[in-house]
Amino acid sequence: YRTLRLILGDQLNINHSWYTSVDDSTLYLIAELKQEADYVVHHIQKISAFFAAMEQFASQLQGAGHHVVHLNLDQSAKYENLPSLISALVKQYQCTHFEFQRPDEYRLYEQLHSLAGSLSQANIHCREYDTEHFLLPFKEIQENFPPGKHVLMEYFYRRMRKRFDLLMVDDKPHGGKWNFDKSNRNKLKTHELEQIPNPLCFANNVSGILNRIAAHQIRTIGQAQPQLLWPVTAIQAKLLLNYFCQHCLHQFGCFQDAMTENSPHSWSLYHSRLSFALNSKLISPKEVIDQAITAYEQDSTIDIAQIEGFVRQILGWREYIRGIYWANMPHYKKTNALKATRDLPAFFWTGNTQMACMKSAITQSLDYAYAHHIQRLMVTGNFCLLAGIAPDEVEQWYLGIYIDAIEWVEMPNTRGMALFADNGIIATKPYAASGNYINKMSDHCKHCFYDVKTKTESNSCPLNSLYWNFLHQHESWLAKNHRTRMIYRSWDNMSEEERESILDKAKNILANINML
Ligand code: FAD
Repeated sequence: YRTLRLILGDQLNINHSWYTSVDDSTLYLIAELKQEADYVVHHIQKISAFFAAMEQFASQLQGAGHHVVHLNLDQSAKYENLPSLISALVKQYQCTHFEFQRPDEYRLYEQLHSLAGSLSQANIHCREYDTEHFLLPFKEIQENFPPGKHVLMEYFYRRMRKRFDLLMVDDKPHGGKWNFDKSNRNKLKTHELEQIPNPLCFANNVSGILNRIAAHQIRTIGQAQPQLLWPVTAIQAKLLLNYFCQHCLHQFGCFQDAMTENSPHSWSLYHSRLSFALNSKLISPKEVIDQAITAYEQDSTIDIAQIEGFVRQILGWREYIRGIYWANMPHYKKTNALKATRDLPAFFWTGNTQMACMKSAITQSLDYAYAHHIQRLMVTGNFCLLAGIAPDEVEQWYLGIYIDAIEWVEMPNTRGMALFADNGIIATKPYAASGNYINKMSDHCKHCFYDVKTKTESNSCPLNSLYWNFLHQHESWLAKNHRTRMIYRSWDNMSEEERESILDKAKNILANINML
């Protein structure tokens, strides 16, 4: 072969220009690798999903006549890491060219660029391609996201709406407003629980993969699923998108932030669950957006607030997060603006806690490798923010547990949005909340062991005292922030005695954090 082309596990874009014609002098490489399976302790469903999707992608390419070498863990085990595997194959097949798509993750970007450097010295021609997946061209990231600077998502999103002419009427937003967030954010009422749709789940047989994971002693977390419910082919991704447009989109925005523990479908609600398919590039963001907009145009039960909310997530947030990551790496990885140092409590790995909201979000994550945005941000994320858990520890957890967790998207969400560790590159203020927020958006507090209404009793919701403790700790700068200044009025209005007892309570909780 003249050329060896590498396809990473999150580069499964069958519409890439690489595949428009078959070239007998090109060999494609897709490999299950230990280095990818153990750079963090992953959820077992996450490894299964990536490996299964890679296997399917390899056979799809083969079916189309491409030359492909697909290595499973057994076959790749003798190579120390990705560069040594590639170097060996280049030699074995006497390739003169090595080509790859730009990795979305800094770690792999560095590794492949350094490999390309040494291959070039050995007169192998190396070439990097775009992944042809995102809407914002990579080269435009710098101008849209000045490093170290706060960039408001809203304005970026509006530029993207105009640029791609999505939900626009001439140069005005369709529906008269850019943002319908205010009409969204409803709590699920009891009679609405029965209407939550059955989630579409697949049954991909991954028993061979599970055996390999066990045989290679790869440490994992979470519930294994021999019949994996996540989509692992482009066709399954399309089916999931169709299903979402038909059954979930009409309520998507409305219940986007809601949480419940009283439905068999509490874990899925009206969310698309497309993040794995998107992040592995089985489906393109443009296709998802276009199809959702078509559904909106054809189905009168879907109103503007729902479709705008959905388009905002993908055209806005997802592209924005990627921009923040690439503009700020590698510095971003080291940020810890609030100097948080505490260890992650053990119950994050078991769900064994009496806090109903945390138990529900963590157990669900262990069962499905999935939680929706508000569970990640306002339940587990908020807890870690208030308790001052070290960002590195928090990130290990998020990066491992979620089906869609790849560093470029996990890191800014965790460090920036949830923990404010980036000192406001993403958020204008920390997303800190007391138990009151959870009570407003969910039914968790109803039967919780802890009492959401009190702060300092033995059974008071821990979030309440932790919340005030957090504000007290960071008063010197938060009291100056125009978005948080107001809150300190309530704090100042409390008696000295009350303030002290809240701080004592928080201290006690933090000292016994594993007992919650
Ligand atoms: P839906 O609610 O149906 O939304 C549709 C799509 O919008 C998602 O599939 C996703 O592609 C995109 N989207 C929505 N919000 C965001 C966001 N904040 N950033 C980027 N894309 C977004 N998302 C990941 O894909 N990988 C991660 O590792 C990840 N880690 C997160 C960690 C924390 C602490 C937080 C607060 C959020 C994280 N998110 C992550 C963002 C978001 O929670 C998930 O994208 C979403 O829950 C995936 O479920 P869904 O496909 O059902 O999304």
